[in-house]
Amino acid sequence: MYSPLRNTVWPTALALLLSTAIFQRATATVGVLDIDDLLHTKDQQTFSSDDSDSPWSHDPHCTVSTSLSTLGRKYCVYTSNFTGPTGISIITTPRIAAAAAPLLDDNPLDNFLTPAQAEALYFNAPPYKVVDVPEKGGKGVVATRKIRKFETFMVDQASVVVDMSLERAVSREENWSLLRVAVERLRKPGVVRELSAKHADGREEEEDEGEEELLGRLEEDVMMTNAFGSQIAETKFRALYPLVSRINHACHPNAFVLFSRAGISMAVKAYRDIEPGEEISISYVTLGQPYPRRHDALKRWGFTCTCALCSLPTQEKTASDVRRSLIAQAETKIIEFWQAGKPTEAIDLTHEAIEIIKDEGLEHLLTDEYALLAKLYLLIGEREKAEHYGRMSFDLLADMGFLGHDVDRQRVELDIENFLEMVGDGMREVRGTYVQEAEDEEV
Ligand SMILES: [Zn+2]
Repeated sequence: MYSPLRNTVWPTALALLLSTAIFQRATATVGVLDIDDLLHTKDQQTFSSDDSDSPWSHDPHCTVSTSLSTLGRKYCVYTSNFTGPTGISIITTPRIAAAAAPLLDDNPLDNFLTPAQAEALYFNAPPYKVVDVPEKGGKGVVATRKIRKFETFMVDQASVVVDMSLERAVSREENWSLLRVAVERLRKPGVVRELSAKHADGREEEEDEGEEELLGRLEEDVMMTNAFGSQIAETKFRALYPLVSRINHACHPNAFVLFSRAGISMAVKAYRDIEPGEEISISYVTLGQPYPRRHDALKRWGFTCTCALCSLPTQEKTASDVRRSLIAQAETKIIEFWQAGKPTEAIDLTHEAIEIIKDEGLEHLLTDEYALLAKLYLLIGEREKAEHYGRMSFDLLADMGFLGHDVDRQRVELDIENFLEMVGDGMREVRGTYVQEAEDEEV
């Protein structure tokens, strides 16, 4: 059976799109990566290791955990300076570092762009630039030409990657020390340090700033305010993508991020057409939440949102919140109908939910809704409609880049049952009933 969905990036990407990114607004000064750096990484082997088989350009810098749950576990800084635009430093255990080593050469150009697209992005100037956005207290990214809906217009590669378990395994001072080493061993440490708000604000106290750099507090600040949650070698990491971290937040963003399967590289794609001069935005929190919930989520990271959606007049903001609540309620209700053996009612409600989702501009949710409709139509024996909505879900997933950049959708003969099974897997987190079903099948 031919499956168009195997060996693609989408399941991880979909899960990550739906989950909360550990990420916060960047305020910064200078230092921009550009596409040339990404294209020329192979020529930039300015460091070499004594051991030619080793992917690392430096000897590991290690510490041993004194925390009870991870007592005696070794955590080290591993750096490869021949990787990516800045080099990459990974802080983790030797075992996980060994598993991650083959993933380092995770070139975003190969992952997200065809050779023709990579060339277009390279020979024409990048379609964005980093600018000062004083009202947001730092930098932002604006489009320099029209960016088309679903276009992949930016790619990036992680420069500092920190095992999530590190924080609890070692003391705060050791954490700082490891982070400092991780950053200073990079080929371009300045690209990371410049992302710190402290770096931007602390000018009047030069001495303190120097001290902070020495300690690694500045590097910690950069990671806490800019890193994404990512999964690499089946381990949860905090990963810093220096270029992507220049993009500011909006609750109704015009762009979204896509992780590679390896988790090292990332692409930014447009949700809709973006006009020249328009600021590019992504959402740092789960999309589609009503105002109070997303406001809380952002506030927790010291963030008060003043985006277009949050700045709407009260009446319009309330209308948006009502639609968002209805969408969330519809999901529960659809599942209830389904479980109660009322597929027709479930179908009607799904159609209604689709209209509300379109009104609210949350198009990414439609991949799930179309797949759900296909499943429901299949359940009542309306195969033609099932295939129609299955195809719509498939096409939208492909448009959004979740099926990889080189899927030839014209040639894909969609196997509806197989497709829905795959989509079901990807939706475990949002649809409890799918989880139930998948578990039943495994038994
Ligand atoms: Zn907002």
